[in-house]
Amino acid sequence: MAEEPKETKPGFQNPVAGFGVTFKAMFKKRLTEQYPEQQKTTAPRFHGRHQLNRHPDGLEKCVGCELCAWACPADAIYVEGADNTDEERYSPGERYGRVYQINYARCILCGLCIEACPTRALTMTNEFELADSSRANLIYTKEQLLAGLEEGMVDTPHAIYPGTDEQDYYRGLVTEAAPGTERQIAVSKGEKPEEQGADA
Ligand code: SF4
Ligand code: SF4
Repeated sequence: MAEEPKETKPGFQNPVAGFGVTFKAMFKKRLTEQYPEQQKTTAPRFHGRHQLNRHPDGLEKCVGCELCAWACPADAIYVEGADNTDEERYSPGERYGRVYQINYARCILCGLCIEACPTRALTMTNEFELADSSRANLIYTKEQLLAGLEEGMVDTPHAIYPGTDEQDYYRGLVTEAAPGTERQIAVSKGEKPEEQGADA
């Protein structure tokens, strides 16, 4: 048996009913946010821009293993690892991340990469203002992602803390750069001795 049509309001009442919705909304609390003039604080574990972390003496935690790149569903990470030497050391162990890039035109900020990182070298900050009008500018380099220097740190490359090994760094036994630690010359990046002196 065919269903009987529902009773509808007479034609002239429909526009009035529509304004009723508008009228009720006028007295509701406004949800509009006045961004960017007023910025809301994000949740503490918000997934924002990535950061490559350092050990307390300034050496880099990234070992160039590429696990983050393999875990990424958007193929947004590019890593090239290289060997440390005693003359040019970036991390306490054998390898370091020589090239590290994240393409924010691809990244969906899912956080799978930071879960995959075995050294906690890669974490995410609360920074979310990543928009740009250029694709090239959306590819962040290692220099942009590397954490800044805090007190007690010396910029890489520099020697490992004397008398320690890589495991000691992960046990938290190194808490600052050894007294007298000096930045080495980044020969692999084209630096020459006189250039380092000129920058100082
Ligand atoms: S947050 Fe997700 S999409 Fe972005 S780089 Fe990491 S794994 Fe890839
Ligand atoms: S950030 Fe972590 S997972 Fe990615 S290459 Fe470096 S150490 Fe490996």
